[in-house]
Amino acid sequence: MSTQTPTETPNPAEKKKFVRRIAPDRSQRIRQIVQGLFVALNGWIGLQFYLWVRYYERGGQGLSVARPAGAEGWLPIAGLMNFKYFLATGLIPAIHPAALFLFVAFLLMSLFLKKAFCSWLCPVGTFSEYLWKLGQRIFGRSLRLPRWADVTLRGLKYVLLGFFVFIIGAMSAEALLDFMNTPYGLLADVKMLNFFRNMGTTAAIVILLLVFFSLLVQNFWCRYLCPYGALMGLVSLLSPVKIRRDADACIDCGKCARACPAHLPVDQLVQVRSVECTACMACVSVCATQDALQFALPPRKAAAPAARWSRRTLSPLAVAGVIACLFFGLILYAKATGHWQTNLPREMYLELVPHSNEAAHPGM
Ligand code: SF4
Ligand code: SF4
Repeated sequence: MSTQTPTETPNPAEKKKFVRRIAPDRSQRIRQIVQGLFVALNGWIGLQFYLWVRYYERGGQGLSVARPAGAEGWLPIAGLMNFKYFLATGLIPAIHPAALFLFVAFLLMSLFLKKAFCSWLCPVGTFSEYLWKLGQRIFGRSLRLPRWADVTLRGLKYVLLGFFVFIIGAMSAEALLDFMNTPYGLLADVKMLNFFRNMGTTAAIVILLLVFFSLLVQNFWCRYLCPYGALMGLVSLLSPVKIRRDADACIDCGKCARACPAHLPVDQLVQVRSVECTACMACVSVCATQDALQFALPPRKAAAPAARWSRRTLSPLAVAGVIACLFFGLILYAKATGHWQTNLPREMYLELVPHSNEAAHPGM
């Protein structure tokens, strides 16, 4: 899906004056720092969660650590189920409430900052980005699929999203509560960890294939298959902040379009509304022209480009600040109101966790 606003046809006789950008661009450095911090945070949570699971698998022996509720950020389906439950009842569920708060935080990011979640926070997005950059080093370039294949494959993530939304949308609040209270629902986080710990041959082959395609094609997983990214993209259509090009200042060099990992024709648009825009600001970082391209609110109606964009643009630091406020703000709210941890008794975990592999999906 691509909804963009084309600019007026420029008069080729008019050669525009190039005014070099004054401030150096730091967007990619700042974004990479945020990505790195978030990967480190996820690594820390993953280690802590592993130790917590091992403690219960050993029957309460060994190192005892607190259960990191942040691990529920890796349960997007639980997040969607809890979101539906909250919409239907107005109540915050007791099982995996952190999944709900993180899901809402990521939705709000998309609502305000396009799909910034994908290119600033998501560890899978970060991994994908480093893979295609590595692929470009190895092969000299990335592969671009023919338009028909690209458009068809981009639809896959919406099919997957539609499947989950249809299944969860059809469940009543009672059915959602019942599901979450089955051993499978209670141990969804442990089962996610077990998937990576005890990976079967088929899953390993699929992951290796995804890694291979991600080396060849920019953001292969995110662009074609991720249902979470599909949802974030749809919400991002409502974002008031977008990549915006000032046709008067722009010298039509085309660098922004060539730098865009989503292959968007940035140099021909006045605003990028596409669901594929991840607010990575790679286009802004390569644009050397003052006031030509920015991540901004709609411009003011003023004659001079500088006045048009005064207090309308979002600097990379401001983007990082909004992301941090939404992420930590919702976590603090959840903690302060007692809705962060899944508070099951220790005895229950002692009984359930060692048998997590036997907990089958209730629908099977
Ligand atoms: S990089 Fe894009 S926005 Fe900047 S001057 Fe060139 S064409 Fe215009
Ligand atoms: S390069 Fe610009 S237009 Fe392309 S995805 Fe990144 S922010 Fe969006």
